[in-house]
Amino acid sequence: MTKPILLSTPHMGDYEQKFVQAAFDTNWIAPVGPHVDAFEQEFCQLIGAGNAAAVSSGTAAIHLALRLIGVEKGDDVFCSTLTFTATANPIIYQGAKPVFIDSDRTSWNMNPDLLQTALAKRDRLGKLPKAVVLVHLYGQSADIEPILSICNRYGIPLIEDAAEALGATYKGQSPGTFGKIGIYSFNGNKIITTSGGGMLVSDDPEIVSKARFLATQARDAAPHYQHSEIGYNYRLSNVLAGIGRGQLRVLDERVAARRRNYEIYNSTLGKLPGVEFMPEASFGKATRWLTCLTINPQAFGADREQIRLALAAEQIETRPVWKPLHMQPVFADCECIGGEIAEDLFARGLCLPSGSNLTLEDLHQVIEAFTAVHTNTKNNL
Ligand SMILES: *Cc1c(COP(=O)(O)O)cnc(C)c1O
Repeated sequence: MTKPILLSTPHMGDYEQKFVQAAFDTNWIAPVGPHVDAFEQEFCQLIGAGNAAAVSSGTAAIHLALRLIGVEKGDDVFCSTLTFTATANPIIYQGAKPVFIDSDRTSWNMNPDLLQTALAKRDRLGKLPKAVVLVHLYGQSADIEPILSICNRYGIPLIEDAAEALGATYKGQSPGTFGKIGIYSFNGNKIITTSGGGMLVSDDPEIVSKARFLATQARDAAPHYQHSEIGYNYRLSNVLAGIGRGQLRVLDERVAARRRNYEIYNSTLGKLPGVEFMPEASFGKATRWLTCLTINPQAFGADREQIRLALAAEQIETRPVWKPLHMQPVFADCECIGGEIAEDLFARGLCLPSGSNLTLEDLHQVIEAFTAVHTNTKNNL
C-alpha cells in the first residue's frame, strides 16, 4: 500500500530536539522557563512585534485578546466569516455575539467595503461592535490598511487572527502586528508547530503582561495564593517552547517550500480548464500555507466533491475550503453581512496537500490523480 499524502504535517528541523533536551537537562518541565522567554523574544524579533506572550493555543490567544479588550456579555464582535470555528468560538466564551463579514475575491479575506458600510450603519444606530476580528486566511494577509483605518475612525480595536499567516507579509510587514492585538497558532498543521501552542502579540507591553497574568490563573502579587480576577491555565510549556525555538529557525525555508508547492501545482494544474488558484493579492506576499483552488465544474467536467473523493481513493488528502461560519449550525442565529462570496468559495474551493515536507514525487502523484479526474470525465462524454 502506498503511503498517504496528507494535507499539512509537522516538519521538524535540526534544533528542536536539542532545545527539548536542554529543557530536560535543566529540569525546566514547566509552563514557565528560559525557552518560553526566549521563544517570545525571538518571535518578536522575527516578525517585528513589540511584545509577545506564548500560550497553549491560538484559540487561547484569541480568548485572551477578547478578554483584554473588554468584550463581555451582550457585546457584538465583527468577525470574518470564511475561517475556522476557532476564530469565533472565544467570542461565545465571552458571552458576546459574532456578526460575520464576507470575503472579497482579491484576498479571500474580509471585504473592507462591507466592513465600512456595516460600521457606518451600526454607528447611526448607536450599536457599534466592541471589536473586529480579522482573519488572514491560508497564508495570505487581508487588506489591513483600509480595515484598520475604518476601525480607527470608529474607535474599535482590531484583533488580527494570523494563525494561518505566520511568515506572510503585508506591504513588507507581518500580518498580526498592525492591530491592537495579533495572534498566531503553532498547532500541528500550521506552517511551524510546537505540537500545540499559540502566541499573542501587541505593541502595548501592558496588554501582553496582563495576558501572561490571566494565562497563569490571575495570581495576585502575594506570598499566598490570592486572586482578584478569574484567570485561565493558558501558558505554553517550556518543553514545547523549545520546539518552537527550533521551528522559528526554519520558518523562511518552510515558507519557500510551501510557495514552491504552489508554483508546481499552478504550472501544471493551472493549465486545466475550470481550475483557478487562490489569487495572491498585490499588497503582500502569501506563504501558501495551503494551496487552494476553485473548480468551475462545467469547464472542468467534475465538481469539487468528485475531485476530492477521487483523490481520497488514491490516499491523497484534500479538504474543502473552510465552511463559512454563518453557514455553521452552531452560528445559525448570527447575522452575516454579505456572504455569497464565502459561500461560493466553500462550494467550489479545495485545499491541496501543501506540507513543506512533501517530495516532488508526492506532488507529482497529486497532479497525476487530479489530472486523471479531468481526463476521465472528458473521455466519458
Ligand atoms: C488554527 C487556527 C486557529 C486556532 O489555533 P489553535 O492553535 O489550533 O487553537 C484560529 N484561527 C485560525 C484561522 C486557524 O487556522
